Amino acid sequence: MCSSDLAGILIATALYPPGAPQEQQVELTRRLMQSVSTDFKRFQTLEQQTHELRFTNEMLALRSVADRQFDSPLAMLQEFLNQWMKKIDADRVVLYLKNQAGAGLGKPLLRSGTASDGSVEANWKRLEDQLTERHLSDGRLTVYNSRDLDELCVERTASGAIVVPLVQKRQAIGLACFTTRDDLPLDATQIALATWAAEYLGEVILRVLNQAIVEKEAREDSLTELANRRAFDQQIKQEIQLARDKKREVSLLLFDLDRFKSINDTYGHQAGDFVLRRTAQLLKDEARESVRTGDRVLVARYGGEEMAVLLPNVNLVGAHRIGESIRRAVDAELFSFQNEEIHVTLSVGIATFPGHADKVHELISAADAALYEAKETGRNQVVTADSLPQEQTV
Ligand code: GH3
Ligand code: MG
Ligand code: MG
Repeated sequence: MCSSDLAGILIATALYPPGAPQEQQVELTRRLMQSVSTDFKRFQTLEQQTHELRFTNEMLALRSVADRQFDSPLAMLQEFLNQWMKKIDADRVVLYLKNQAGAGLGKPLLRSGTASDGSVEANWKRLEDQLTERHLSDGRLTVYNSRDLDELCVERTASGAIVVPLVQKRQAIGLACFTTRDDLPLDATQIALATWAAEYLGEVILRVLNQAIVEKEAREDSLTELANRRAFDQQIKQEIQLARDKKREVSLLLFDLDRFKSINDTYGHQAGDFVLRRTAQLLKDEARESVRTGDRVLVARYGGEEMAVLLPNVNLVGAHRIGESIRRAVDAELFSFQNEEIHVTLSVGIATFPGHADKVHELISAADAALYEAKETGRNQVVTADSLPQEQTV
């Protein structure tokens, strides 16, 4: 007997008190119950339909986030989580992926939500980490209210939490942990949505990571992990266009290792590869250290043992200073490879847009001519397009 039948009996008993003949009471009660339970069933069906409709709408809204274009895969994940967080009235979310090596929790892929003051934030993070550690491998959706969180004996900052496993091909690959300042009374729609979103996000993450790997490989040199020639060609075009529009300067530094062939010949090709990798790292560190934070720097492998640094918003004087600090850093380094200590130097050619060139290919030619001059006049030095004899400039 369901609750609607019980309600029918109660109403009927009140309308037809015990004094009425029993058959009449039974008959009237039966009729009343029939009508009440039909209405109730109708109501239940309506509620079910409303739930399904809401679920479908919210699911479609979340799906549409994953289908939109974003600047980066992480930006898309962030938006997906933010939307999801809103739908379950959570204040914060943290997304963890299981560490492939299986060692420790590692860093979360994303954290998002209300920033609180420092001390509360630290406690909140601790709670998120604690819940994550508890559930990273169990693959179960778990809802916590404030009493449950008290029992965990944590310094409680949140009053509600929902831990949602991320599933990929039926395997838990990580989790999303949502927390709220208030208790989290989730209804059936929100739970169903969380279950669906977890599976969907598992698939999306796989797609996003694969896409990120393909994009990275297409733009990166595998030996040095610098931008490759293709990425350099694309970016220098964009930067020159931008500089032309905004009337700004762009400096190009070309580097070529000195007598690199003899390093290969003396220590072997593997040692040569090691020197290239280490030089690339030095270039990256020095270049990034020398410019203001927020300024774009492109460090690329331009050819075999040639590298390039492109510095938007840096004039010739600034570029010379950076080129010189890179030259000095490489000269000062002893490259240790399999018990050998290798001394390496490089030559640098610099040209600046628009002072030395108006077009991309002219800028490259001007820097190349300066590099050639640096080689011709002794190596291990920096030469700018300014100091070239007139017939060598473009
Ligand atoms: P210079 O001072 O005039 O630049 O002399 P160099 O010996 O550096 O010049 P050259 O262009 O004759 O030699 C460049 C050498 O770089 C030849 C090539 O074998 C080597 N090289 C190019 N790419 C790689 C690489 O990926 N790994 C290694 N180990 N060597 C490379
Ligand atoms: Mg060369
Ligand atoms: Mg060379």
